[in-house]
Amino acid sequence: MSAPAWPVGLSTDDLGLFFAPHHGAVADAARQVAGAWPVGTHGDDATATRAAARALSAAGLLAWTVPERFGGAAHGRPDALDVRALCLVREALGQADGLLDTAFAMQGLGSYPITLAGTDAQKARYLPGVLAGERLGAFALSEPDAGSDVAAMGCRATRTAGGWRLDGTKTWISNAGVAGQYVVFATVDPAAGRRGITAFIVEPDDPGLTVEAFEVIAPHPIGTLRFDGCTLPADRLLGAEGGGFTLAMATLEAFRTTVAAAAVGMGRRALHEATAYARGRHQLGQAIIRHQQIGAYLADGRTELDASRLLVYRAAHAKDTQPRATVEVAMAKLFATEAAFRLIDKAVQIHGGLGVKVGSVVERLYREIRALRIYEGTSEIQRVILAADLARGAG
Ligand SMILES: Cc1cc2nc3c(=O)[nH]c(=O)nc-3n(C[C@H](O)[C@H](O)[C@H](O)COP(=O)(O)OP(=O)(O)OC[C@H]3O[C@@H](n4cnc5c(N)ncnc54)[C@H](O)[C@@H]3O)c2cc1C
Repeated sequence: MSAPAWPVGLSTDDLGLFFAPHHGAVADAARQVAGAWPVGTHGDDATATRAAARALSAAGLLAWTVPERFGGAAHGRPDALDVRALCLVREALGQADGLLDTAFAMQGLGSYPITLAGTDAQKARYLPGVLAGERLGAFALSEPDAGSDVAAMGCRATRTAGGWRLDGTKTWISNAGVAGQYVVFATVDPAAGRRGITAFIVEPDDPGLTVEAFEVIAPHPIGTLRFDGCTLPADRLLGAEGGGFTLAMATLEAFRTTVAAAAVGMGRRALHEATAYARGRHQLGQAIIRHQQIGAYLADGRTELDASRLLVYRAAHAKDTQPRATVEVAMAKLFATEAAFRLIDKAVQIHGGLGVKVGSVVERLYREIRALRIYEGTSEIQRVILAADLARGAG
């Protein structure tokens, strides 16, 4: 069997400015996993996610979700994640399958608060399972009435004689029902706004937790967590009381750029599929790629994709080399997810009726890309971040 024509465009040579020597090998490993992944053959979303996590661990890719000091891959900064490596992996996986990409991302997003703020005992209990792909991660911040406005959260944490009690609801939680650990943000004092937000580690069999799964438009294990007098021992407090907001934002700033990288991967796959189709499909006497409108769609998409990739790896490089990169990260997330959506929409258009036929690659990409403009901070919230920076005097 010949190797698939994709993943494509993953070279680290063209953006050598942003990469270190080890990144070429990361891209190669990710390309192999993405190219060999049998999309849609693992059954329901939960089963497929478990299979994906095991495959990602076996290929060594999950080693990039935890810093070297706690068992992850070596890259010269033992206490830090390598955001460029995370982006290269997501760029490859995004070309293959949104669910595979999510399985990878959640091992990082769901464990990074523990890496950042966990005690030695918490790291020893949770991180090895994350690396093995056996303990799936989840990051529970959003609530029915607190999405973009995180500080409005109502999930309540109360001290008890033996530890803590949680009451409230978290929703839109990726890996709900399959996770082996949930990092849950709750408030110890609703009147204190963001200063009351505190992080906890919840395990699936903790008393008082119930999980309801629901479906979104593309394969993705997700659901609602209900805490009804959920009792936790004292050692499940994660970090300092009142330190949850900072911890959540630090985690999101590390992973937001990787969402943008996944969007680049999805867009790249769409460009590949649409170009191949437009070269082979003939109408009105010539290949449709020779019709100027179709050629222009592809040319615009190709240009925006390269612009996205530049923004993504600039942001990832900044994140790896500077203490903060809020502006670069917001630009990358905003532009790459919006541009990939435009490109995928054009890829569907170029396929004509086949573009909306269930089972076609571009139809799947059309559903997969949509949520990336919403989660980990909507496009509008990225604009809020960028405009606030301008209002403070930047630019
Ligand atoms: C597939 C998927 C997976 C997810 N996974 C997770 C997860 O694992 N963990 C987790 O905690 N959450 C997760 N989320 C939730 C996600 O982070 C939220 O959906 C997102 O933050 C938006 O919140 P909301 O849905 O409540 O929308 P709202 O905040 O109610 O926003 C509704 C609309 O108003 C706009 N808006 C809001 N405030 C402003 C403003 N100040 N200025 C301009 N426009 C504004 C928004 O951009 C949006 O268009 C996931 C969501 C999806 C779709």
